[in-house]
Amino acid sequence: MVRKAPVLTPRSWLHKISSLLNNKKTKEVYNHEPYYDLQEIFNEVNSKYFSGRLTIPISWSGTGKTRALTTIRLGSYNLKTQRIKINRLLDAPHIPRIILAYIVYHEALHHLFPPLQSPGSKRRIHHPLFLQKEREFQEYEEVQAFLKTFRKKFFSYKESF
Ligand SMILES: [Zn+2]
Repeated sequence: MVRKAPVLTPRSWLHKISSLLNNKKTKEVYNHEPYYDLQEIFNEVNSKYFSGRLTIPISWSGTGKTRALTTIRLGSYNLKTQRIKINRLLDAPHIPRIILAYIVYHEALHHLFPPLQSPGSKRRIHHPLFLQKEREFQEYEEVQAFLKTFRKKFFSYKESF
């Protein structure tokens, strides 16, 4: 059975990376110490970019395992609960710390710059002001280059099926 890789826009693949690594919906308990201290990364991003004024709870999400044909969100910000969640898949030595900082920064921007909705038009999550702010991340280019490679890795794996 041939499955088409989802078409991902440069922004959406930050949140959605599909994987064929494992076909079972595992509910394994994540039982080892985190590699990264998420709160520490948040605090650094908060003081560097937001004068330390953000008070957003942050936690890991997921089991750290990939599932087949599911959508994997690398990070999320919930407008209702006002919480940031970062996927445990990123809690690994092969993921540079700056990538986590960038995703934390991205999610914090969702807190500060909520989606725009004008009557009769589509809700815009990554609107121009958001994108402009996003580029203020110091290592923006470096991060984009890494994420591009990261995505390719996932998809080349997928293509080998
Ligand atoms: Zn986003």
